[in-house]
Amino acid sequence: MTASAPVTQDVMTIPRKLPEGGKINLVGLTRDGLRAVLIENGTAEKQAKMRTNQIWQWMYQWGVRDFHAMTNLSKAYRAELDEKFCVDIPETISRQVSEDGTRKYLVRIAGGHEVEVVYIPETDRGTLCVSSQVGCTLTCSFCHTGTQKLVRNLTAGEIIGQVMMARDDLDEWPQPGVSTADAPPRLISNIVLMGMGEPLYNFDNVRDAMNIAMDGEGISLSRRRITLSTSGVVPEIARTAEEIGCMLAISFHATTDDVRDKLVPINKKWNIKELLDALRAYPSLSNSERITFEYVMLKDVNDSDADARRLVKLIAGIPAKINLIPFNEWPGSPYERSSGNRIKAFSDIIYNAGYASPIRKPRGEDIMAACGQLKSATERARKSRKQIDAEAGLDGS
Ligand code: SAH
Ligand code: SF4
Repeated sequence: MTASAPVTQDVMTIPRKLPEGGKINLVGLTRDGLRAVLIENGTAEKQAKMRTNQIWQWMYQWGVRDFHAMTNLSKAYRAELDEKFCVDIPETISRQVSEDGTRKYLVRIAGGHEVEVVYIPETDRGTLCVSSQVGCTLTCSFCHTGTQKLVRNLTAGEIIGQVMMARDDLDEWPQPGVSTADAPPRLISNIVLMGMGEPLYNFDNVRDAMNIAMDGEGISLSRRRITLSTSGVVPEIARTAEEIGCMLAISFHATTDDVRDKLVPINKKWNIKELLDALRAYPSLSNSERITFEYVMLKDVNDSDADARRLVKLIAGIPAKINLIPFNEWPGSPYERSSGNRIKAFSDIIYNAGYASPIRKPRGEDIMAACGQLKSATERARKSRKQIDAEAGLDGS
């Protein structure tokens, strides 16, 4: 697809209730957190568990945000809740729809910051790509988000709020009273933490949000349908298995420390060996649960046959699949995408070594929604090209 492909641009503003003065937002609290907040605010302790379950189900199973519509609670209790609490999710600023059906949303969070959320429909699934930070502290040299300095971590409510926002837009909440199991096939069947930010640098909020997404009396997605992508924050990898239990994807991208230091600078802190050791120890590793290695294909940088052979050797013994990502260009990007033939030859070597090596089809390129293209337009704290090149070691120094 070319940049000039037709785009359905459907910019809209969905009015949403902003947090009202003094009210506590219930979105993003864990079940225990919700129970504690209810008790602190006057719900009798012996009723708190039941109330928590009821409110939880309204919010996360049926997408209801108006306490007055929570009809299995008494009218008086509903009024009391409405006085003290709100159920708020990020405000949708715009939605663009690509000619391939991909939807990119720009959402505004407290403080006026903006993050992007992408919905990718496919024949057998629908994937929501969620952001975990505004910008990113890491500076991977091929990533657009990396040119935007970190502004802040998203709260758990802002992370799960992206899922709730997309379910609103796709109109996929079951009717109140209908269980998730009886609802039609899911439009959002998978979540990937592959939007803006490094999820393992915002561990607690990502964990709480994903535990809400997986809760059986709510959005109820299987842990196998949630994939967290990390650039390689080694000390948090074991916790990901223990506290979230979702699938793991690693932004690997290079087969020598020299090249990886330049592409994924966190490699200078935790190098390839340390990363692979952590993956070998990943507790839920089994043949049915493979780790995804993401590998961006950059012309003449990391795409040789020798790279493919080294990659296979490095990951020996780790149940894995290698996801080859044709590089997505962005304005001023310092790399080019490898040719189709090169990507195919690379993929064949990996496949012949016994690993699945799918080539990721770029989606939503015409609306800059593809991997690594996300960046909020209002965050203009962009570094200079020179500064990025210097950090990537591309300035000849
Ligand atoms: N910070 C996390 C998750 C967000 S990035 C991480 O780095 O894993 C999601 C994926 O998109 C990563 O594999 C990332 O390396 C890849 N990516 C970033 N920029 C890209 C680009 N311009 N083209 C293709 N893939 C890119
Ligand atoms: Fe951050 Fe991931 Fe982009 Fe690297 S690839 S700059 S870790 S968002």
